[in-house]
Amino acid sequence: MVHKLNVQNVSYSYHTIEGETAALSDISFTADTGEFIAVVGPSGCGKSTLLSLLSGLARPESGFVLIDGKPAELAKEAIGYMLQKDHLFEWRSILSNAALGLEIQKRLDADSRFRLVQMLKTYGLDQFQDKHPSQLSGGMRQRAALIRTLALNPDLLLLDEPFSALDYQTRLSVCDDISSIIRDTKKTAVLVTHDLSEAISVADRVIILSSRPASVKKIITLSFPPASSQSSGLEHSNVLSPMERRNAPEFSYYFNLIWKELKSDASSSHYAEKS
Ligand code: ADP
Ligand code: MG
Repeated sequence: MVHKLNVQNVSYSYHTIEGETAALSDISFTADTGEFIAVVGPSGCGKSTLLSLLSGLARPESGFVLIDGKPAELAKEAIGYMLQKDHLFEWRSILSNAALGLEIQKRLDADSRFRLVQMLKTYGLDQFQDKHPSQLSGGMRQRAALIRTLALNPDLLLLDEPFSALDYQTRLSVCDDISSIIRDTKKTAVLVTHDLSEAISVADRVIILSSRPASVKKIITLSFPPASSQSSGLEHSNVLSPMERRNAPEFSYYFNLIWKELKSDASSSHYAEKS
């Protein structure tokens, strides 16, 4: 079977005048359609580097990244890449910011503009479409950035700490929103985060990376009971929402498991530094 995303034995180093920085070492994993993968690891270990390779913006030194069986750099149309900063342009209105990706790809027409306005409605931004980014809250801006990414209708979403600039409460609700959008539209998503709770509340699998150069320490498949039928009505409703997961008994079990993995790495690198 061809995986939506197939990462095999990927290594990568940066070469600068100061020398070589090994960032990724022999990373392998796959993701299938509709799967939500979270990637966690110590700060500076190579998480953003990994996403830039998945997006096809950088190429692996060895190994390969395939999307639908094609090299990532040939599959750009299938990829939506959302960064930590929302990168909205202040001189553009929210509508024209959300339209930017379509505009660049020369896909902005009456039809796609109509769908964009519908999306702004769905995500509660229709009242704000003529406003400028500084007139919106952080959560709204992040939603506008997500709409800009989703408007291109990518199959594979790459999210690099997209909620980290938000305050805690907004983060919880935007994370809830975004994960149900991704599940409803059956996207495949790779979310990089340093927040374990975030990873456990949204993902099907959590990939734990070691400190730099990042290698895969462990891949943990999360299993939560299905949501009760009372809360059903929507298609994704047999899956617990992020908020419901946070209250489930499995949550703290997974938190401890992943925390221990990350901690064991931190102490071993500390030890290595000392010795
Ligand atoms: P993370 O996202 O996990 O915090 P990054 O992927 O951003 O980590 O960085 C991994 C390592 O690669 C870091 O040591 C960082 O300093 C280095 N690095 C990142 N980008 C560059 C670059 N453009 N040139 C040289 N080194 C870089
Ligand atoms: Mg990063």
